[in-house]
Amino acid sequence: MSKFYVTTAIDYSNGDPHLGHALEKVGADAIARYRRLRGDDVTFLMGMDEHSQAVVQAAEQNGYSPQAWVDRMAGRFEEFWRRLEISNDDWIRTTEPRHREAVTEILRRIQQRNPDDLYVGEYEGLYCVGCEEFKQPAQIVNGRCIEHPTRELIPTKERNHFFRLSRYRDTLLERIRSGEFRVEPAIRRNEILRLLEDGLQDISISRHRLSWGIPFPSDPEQTVYVWFDALVNYLSATGYPAEGYQGLWPADLHVVGKGITRFHCVIWPAMLLAADLALPREVWAHGYVQWEGTKMSKTTGTAVTLEEAIERHGADALRYFLLREVGFEADGNFSWERFDERYTADLADGLGNLASRALAMLAKYRDGVVPQAEAQTSLDAAGADSVKRYGEAMDALDLRSGAEAAWDLVGTANLYIQQTAPWKLAKEGRDAELDASLAALARALYRLAVMTGPLTPGKSQILWEVLGMRESVASAPWDSLAAPPVSGVATRKPETLFPKPASV
Ligand SMILES: [Zn+2]
Repeated sequence: MSKFYVTTAIDYSNGDPHLGHALEKVGADAIARYRRLRGDDVTFLMGMDEHSQAVVQAAEQNGYSPQAWVDRMAGRFEEFWRRLEISNDDWIRTTEPRHREAVTEILRRIQQRNPDDLYVGEYEGLYCVGCEEFKQPAQIVNGRCIEHPTRELIPTKERNHFFRLSRYRDTLLERIRSGEFRVEPAIRRNEILRLLEDGLQDISISRHRLSWGIPFPSDPEQTVYVWFDALVNYLSATGYPAEGYQGLWPADLHVVGKGITRFHCVIWPAMLLAADLALPREVWAHGYVQWEGTKMSKTTGTAVTLEEAIERHGADALRYFLLREVGFEADGNFSWERFDERYTADLADGLGNLASRALAMLAKYRDGVVPQAEAQTSLDAAGADSVKRYGEAMDALDLRSGAEAAWDLVGTANLYIQQTAPWKLAKEGRDAELDASLAALARALYRLAVMTGPLTPGKSQILWEVLGMRESVASAPWDSLAAPPVSGVATRKPETLFPKPASV
């Protein structure tokens, strides 16, 4: 059993989670669930980034103290993640003592190893509170931040502590080029390589007189810059600096949005190099959920609320749609029309219909008991092929292709029902053929329950149970997909997995 430590970005506590947040968490959750299925010892971390200026502003506007506000927001986010069946093992908040301790320690360690990696300087620039960073001219359009066109940039000039980021450029280039530190997908890796080839400037890592934050060691007038603080969360959650943190560290995978790759693929690994700590193995940067071609965000007023999206067809349907249609690599579009179409075609008429037809025939012709007919059929061949393609895609974090591979089997199985026409076989008394057809369908449903588990965990568990299987679909041995152990199992009355809404 190998350990697999996967993280998502921690979210700002300034507003409710939206679909963009949900895509990242659902994608990381599908990866975590898939790795568990493959037998890995998974630790899946999520959390909240609580020390930003935007938090102080949001708290003030809503009449809360910053701490009361972040407590409230952490509860809101957690509630949404439970509804979306996110299976994180840990939940870190940057206001926690375990995190504060790790941030202080990493700064101490950098200082100790290379005293001139940290130095005091003047900073002057335009600051975006939305991004929590000083913006370079290339990141400014019409005097506004590209990511936050509705926010004013704040001219800022102050004395700060700086981190000698420039020193680590060559090492980072080498680690990324050699694949020792993987940045995926390739489009993001190329962006980062270009950025490194252009050269790195040192960065300010403290803010002056900002009371909401972690005090900068030995300089009470400064707090640690929120990004330098936040990135450390991945390490804090391992227990660092206490003994034994190497049981989890380095992280196997950081899942982040494409807008924050500079922090995760340049600044974070440079901080780790400076502190002589191991680099994460891989960063995966997904695209954005778009609405009619623009970034969906609360700030620009184009957000479909997560609440509405879950209410539409349920949490599993939303998870499926995000991974299958929006995708986990490039930007993808969300629209109600496509969501409804996918729901009807793939879930209600696809997997749902397959399960109810197959189980209804088992009930009708064999009292629900799967016949002892283990001869391989064309459907088994399709099932084995689907499992193989699914595994390859999921290993490569290509979640869309993983979903496609599973749903190809749904299509083949529905076709198999048409072709073998079990009702005809029953009528004509061709018992052996009927047994073979029903048993093959039960094996297909078993494979589908397991493969869809990481994508639609709630419905997959229901399918698992009506198939007469014990315990959790998540604990199904991967090897059992080669020959699903369904012979003689008592299946239950069919259930409508994905009801058709009246409006669709
Ligand atoms: Zn911004």
